Amino acid sequence: MPMNNTRKQAGYKYKDVLTNHPNRSQFERDLSAIYASNTLSCDHSFVGLINIDNFKLVNHTYSYLFGDQLLIKMIHRLNQIPEIKNFVYRFGGDEFAFIVDNKHGEHIFEIAQKITYVLDLPFEIEGKELSITVSMGLVYMKEGEQSVMELLRKLNLAVNECKSSGKNKFVLYDSFMKKNYEDTLTLEVALKKAVKSGFDEFDVVFQPIIDATNGEISSAEALMRWNSVELGVVPPVRFIPVAETSGMIILLGKYILDRSLRQVKEWLDAKLDISVSVNFSVLQMLQSDLISSVMEALQLYKVPAKYLTIEITESLIINDITRVIEILNALRGIGVRIAIDDFGTGYSSLNHLRRLPLDYVKIDRSFIFNIEFDPYTLAFIDTITKFCHFKNTKVCCEGIETITQRKMLENIDVDFLQGYLFSKPISALEFCNLLKR
Ligand code: C2E
Ligand code: MG
Ligand code: MG
Repeated sequence: MPMNNTRKQAGYKYKDVLTNHPNRSQFERDLSAIYASNTLSCDHSFVGLINIDNFKLVNHTYSYLFGDQLLIKMIHRLNQIPEIKNFVYRFGGDEFAFIVDNKHGEHIFEIAQKITYVLDLPFEIEGKELSITVSMGLVYMKEGEQSVMELLRKLNLAVNECKSSGKNKFVLYDSFMKKNYEDTLTLEVALKKAVKSGFDEFDVVFQPIIDATNGEISSAEALMRWNSVELGVVPPVRFIPVAETSGMIILLGKYILDRSLRQVKEWLDAKLDISVSVNFSVLQMLQSDLISSVMEALQLYKVPAKYLTIEITESLIINDITRVIEILNALRGIGVRIAIDDFGTGYSSLNHLRRLPLDYVKIDRSFIFNIEFDPYTLAFIDTITKFCHFKNTKVCCEGIETITQRKMLENIDVDFLQGYLFSKPISALEFCNLLKR
């Protein structure tokens, strides 16, 4: 490889101080050398950019020193992969790049999978076990005549694409990404404006959760809606991730909590015994004033804590289960209920179910869709339900759309049901009418 010559002259300027590995300047030098020499081994040479998911939370939860150790261990692991050995670079922060001058024409996805596999194994740092996931962007080097800057821009777009579509994956750059990225930027600007101008564009709708034993409505899940003046109706799956990465979820989350509690109070005053479930994002859960702010809101709206359930997703847990258990116990200590949402889609393990203090487990709707066609899916839900009941956790199934699904789930003693079969998410007024029917 032509890189060897440039390497010989490489001094401290081309090394990352923390990891003592090549840095971004060396990456640029190596790439320029490859392009200049025109010796790309074949059309399948490529570059990749790796970004740790939720790295901020690692620093937040432990310390920066702890985070540093993770970065060092990561680059060592990456350097053990033969295809990228010696061509791994730290760009600073939690970003690493690599070059594959692909002599053997190995498939780009096979190498990406190898990298994912190696990083999937838990890290041991300061006696603690930590699991991480990464988002990885990939770009072929010979796609047209590319400059180093052009490659970097594409890599960043591919990583952004991973992040905005749920992280923990690799994505090969394609030309649609530029458009997608620009759309996300527009969305972020509009979202900031909407939050700063007093939440007028936001609304809360409520979806009934049904008690499977008697078919009655037992609670409501509060779901956020955004009707943007500039962009029209934007679905939560599109704007919540942007609200999370931009930190705006904190203000939005507080707004939704307030609106939900105010609504429960109205129902209670009207002698309607309905509790509310509110979705909390990972960032909200890790705020140091979480407990006091939830308590304040409950007091402000004079709602007993048992009428509030906080729904969290599994991505919260991967960082530090011990810390998460503390947070959940503190919330339960003030009387709030806890549900784990979208169970089965992420890192679900029975170990999480065993260790976490949970009142409810909500099984993701992707499983429900399958139960009519695949006996294993029903067996899975059955097993989870038995396991949960053993430790006094109730099970709720989401996304029920047919009577057959409902019957199958009732037969295996699921506790709560939610889905379009009963009702779509509706306004508070419509919900009230539904209750009085
Ligand atoms: P989730 O918490 O799992 O909410 C359930 C989603 O499934 C809702 O989508 C609901 O409309 C949809 N759903 C319910 N029953 C059915 C059904 O039978 N069939 C189908 N196809 N879908 C059904 P929605 O309202 O679009 O929300 C999507 C996600 O956005 C939520 O998933 C939640 O993760 C997030 N989200 C919504 N509101 C908030 C919020 O206030 N805060 C946070 N942090 N996240 C929120
Ligand atoms: Mg939910
Ligand atoms: Mg869910």
